[in-house]
Amino acid sequence: MNHATLITAYIGLGSNLAEPLTQLQTACAAIANLAQVEELACSSFYQSAPVGPQDQPDFVNAVMAISTDLAALDLLACLQKIEQEQGRVRTGIRWGARTLDLDLLLYGEQQINLPTLTVPHPEIRNRAFVLYPLCEIAPALFIPTLGAIDTLIANCPSAALKKLA
Ligand code: AMP
Repeated sequence: MNHATLITAYIGLGSNLAEPLTQLQTACAAIANLAQVEELACSSFYQSAPVGPQDQPDFVNAVMAISTDLAALDLLACLQKIEQEQGRVRTGIRWGARTLDLDLLLYGEQQINLPTLTVPHPEIRNRAFVLYPLCEIAPALFIPTLGAIDTLIANCPSAALKKLA
C-alpha cells in the first residue's frame, strides 16, 4: 500500500437472502482480503425491516471501516465484483431482495458526484440500518454535507432495528 495516500472508507453491507449472516461474514472477509485494503473495524450485525417492498425477508446489515489506497471507483468495482461472486442477481426491482448489497458510504472526506458513484452515499441520513452501525464504529464521525453522526442519529428512530448477538 502507498501509505502517503491512505484513505479511511466506510462500506455498508446488507443481505436478506440465502443465509444473510453467512453472506455478511463472507463479504467482510472478502473485503478484508482485497489487495490495497486493510480492515479497521466491523460493526455488530443488525436485523432491519426491508425498505420498499414489504413482501421480502428482513435484512441483516453491518458497516465496515477500511483503510485503502484504492481510488474510489476502483474500490466500487471491487465491491461490485464481491456482490457478483456472492450470487447477486440484479432484478431491476428497486430495494428488492438481494444476497448481498455493498454500498460505499464514505471515502475519506471526499464528495464524489459521478454518474456511477455518489459519495457520501445519498441515503445515509435516512437509514437507521446504516447510521447505527456506523456510529458504533465511528462515534465522533463528521460526514461531509450531512454533519455529525450523533445529530443524524437523533433524527433517525431505530424502531425496526435489532442488534444481533
Ligand atoms: P444498488 O442496486 O443499490 O446496489 O445500486 C448500485 C448502483 O448504484 C451501481 O450502479 C452504482 O454505480 C451506483 N452507486 C452510486 N453511488 C454508489 C455508492 N456510493 N455505493 C454503491 N453504489 C453506488
